[in-house]
Amino acid sequence: MTKRSYRPATTLIHAGQIRSNFSENAEALFLTSGFVYDSAEQAEATFKGEVSHYQYSRFGNPTVSMLESRLAAIEGAEACRATATGMAAVHAAMLCHLKTGDRVVASRALFGSCHWIVSTLLPRYGIEAVFVDGGDLAAWAAALVHKTALVLLETPSNPMLDIIDMRAVCDLAHAAGAIVVVDNVFATPLLQRPLEFGADVVVYSATKHMDGQGRVLGGAVLGRKEWIENTLQPFTRNTGPAMSPFNAWVILKGLETMALRVAQSCRSAAAIADHLAGHAAIERVLYPFRPDHPQAALARAQMSEGGTLVTFALKGGQAAAFRFLNALELVVISNNLGDSKSMMTHPATTTHSKIAPADRAVLGITEGIIRFSVGLEDVADLIDDLDGALKAVG
Ligand SMILES: *Cc1c(COP(=O)(O)O)cnc(C)c1O
Repeated sequence: MTKRSYRPATTLIHAGQIRSNFSENAEALFLTSGFVYDSAEQAEATFKGEVSHYQYSRFGNPTVSMLESRLAAIEGAEACRATATGMAAVHAAMLCHLKTGDRVVASRALFGSCHWIVSTLLPRYGIEAVFVDGGDLAAWAAALVHKTALVLLETPSNPMLDIIDMRAVCDLAHAAGAIVVVDNVFATPLLQRPLEFGADVVVYSATKHMDGQGRVLGGAVLGRKEWIENTLQPFTRNTGPAMSPFNAWVILKGLETMALRVAQSCRSAAAIADHLAGHAAIERVLYPFRPDHPQAALARAQMSEGGTLVTFALKGGQAAAFRFLNALELVVISNNLGDSKSMMTHPATTTHSKIAPADRAVLGITEGIIRFSVGLEDVADLIDDLDGALKAVG
């Protein structure tokens, strides 16, 4: 590609492809740990950085490179490094940049393992960690009065779909000397491009919509070439969170259909949110593009669609939520998301069970909350399944 700049759906199919001497049409799977040199001189020149040659798949691999180039193209980022998991991406993006004595400010509503890195891991290394309510700009401003090295945020957040004003937080963060890392898993690069709102680094779990079919784990870090090559790359080369070429190949093929899949899931999610909203058994529905979402205007300013997840609260707390989940016939109970198969989870007893009840209450994750990752089934079948399960709630 690279002759012209193409639209996202095209970019996801063609960007970054490297063809070998065999002129294969599909991306080749270079399932090799190492590479060979024509001569001792070539090996020496490669290690001196004088010639560009693959050395070892912990440093780089052609299949992984194709994925990295494709992700950089869809994100509009200068560079990308793929990692073994989404958490490896978050961990590497933070630890490569931080040192003892630094300060990190993060939104409170983070994916559980991201919360653990900030709250538990970073303080072990003498890095101060401060959490703020992501929707409260005054809290961000107060926290960012002090010099800060890094800001981490997730928008929309898991599972309450809170929206954070990225441009406002980025301005505050930059004034405090911080880089801003955005976990963009829920929106995908198709619905939201944080770099356009001032973010410095974007991280993904490629396990979710990028694979999109529940097969492999993967992650990615995207940002400026200078930071990726001089700050992130030495960290990942030497600590080893490399993505398997096999997983990169699966995710490359996943990306080819991501625009279709995400568009369909968004259409279904919006229809399902509207369908659930009026139901007597339901206390409230959260979907970023519904007018009753508290930050609908901000969501529309930052995202092109409302996303593939719907969160709702059943009346009757955990008992009602469990009766509902156990009555589902089509939608599966799973803590995963971003899959062609529709999945629901009860955050209070699974993904967020390790958070103290008082802290869960602050996040709004009550006992009746259910997170619905809307897949690719016919939306009428999904609605029939929901209606059947709602009847069981009584
Ligand atoms: C899943 C997820 C992660 C972690 O990704 P893994 O691939 O499971 O390691 C991080 N952030 C968010 C928002 C996620 O949904």
